[in-house]
Amino acid sequence: MNPAAQDVQALLHHMPRFWKMEDRVAGAELGLGRFQFDFDNEEDIIEVFKLEPFHFDYWMVSLVRWEPVVDPSYPSAIKFWVRMMGIPLHFWAKPTFRSIGEALGEVLEVDIDEGRVKVCLDRYKPLTFETTVEFHSGEETLVALRYERLFGYCRECFSLCHDVSQCPTLRRAREERETQRRRDEKPDGGAMSYKGVVINGSGGENGNVRKSQPNGGDTKGKGKLEEVREEHIPRKWKAWWGELRLTAETGGIHPSGTAQADQ
Ligand SMILES: [Zn+2]
Repeated sequence: MNPAAQDVQALLHHMPRFWKMEDRVAGAELGLGRFQFDFDNEEDIIEVFKLEPFHFDYWMVSLVRWEPVVDPSYPSAIKFWVRMMGIPLHFWAKPTFRSIGEALGEVLEVDIDEGRVKVCLDRYKPLTFETTVEFHSGEETLVALRYERLFGYCRECFSLCHDVSQCPTLRRAREERETQRRRDEKPDGGAMSYKGVVINGSGGENGNVRKSQPNGGDTKGKGKLEEVREEHIPRKWKAWWGELRLTAETGGIHPSGTAQADQ
C-alpha cells in the first residue's frame, strides 16, 4: 500500500516462502506497486487468506482474489480484526459491535467473546481510532478501536498509504508556509529567480519553474526534467521507477511502525 517503502520484487520472493508455497506459487510484478500471484491449487488460496491482513516491509498489503477490474485504485480492500474498547457491559451484544463495525466498512464477522469485529476496509480511507457511540437510551460513550496486526500508517492523517514524512497534508501546509515566507522576505522575488537561472546555467529549469509556478511546482518540474533526459524509457516503466527512487529518499520504514504491530 506504500510503494515508496515496499520493494515489490522482494515481496514476490518472500511471501510465497513465508507461506511455504514457493514451489506452487508464481509471482509477477505489474508495475505501479502492483503484482500478481498465480496459485496452482485453490486450497492454497484459501489457506493464504486465513493469514489476512498481510504486511511487508512494515506496511500493509492489499491482497485480493483476482477480478477483471480496470479501476486504477484496485485492489483497495483490506480486512482487519478491530477490537472495540469502552463498550458498556449492558450493551455488550452482537448488534452493538456490528453497528460500530458497519460505520468502518463491510462487517464480515463478529466475535463477541473477544469484543472484536472483522471488517473489510477501503485502504484509501483514513483509519478511525475512536468513535462516539450513542445508544437507544440516549447514553453516549467513547469507544476506542484497535486494529490487530496493523503496521505502518501516517501519524498525521491516519492513511495506510504513506509515511508521515510524505504526508500530503503536512506537505501542503509546509509549502504554504514557505511561499508565505518567501513573499514576506522578498517582495521582488521575480528578480531573485532570474538570478538563480543565470547562476545555474544549463540547470536553470528549476528557476524557470519557480518563476512561473511560485506555489510548489517542484514535483512537476522534476517530472519534466526526467521526460527530457530519459526519453528512451517507456512511460509506464518510468512511473514505476520514479516510485522506487522515492524509496531511497524516504529511507524506507518508519521506525515506530513495529510498535503498532500488536495493536
Ligand atoms: Zn498523511
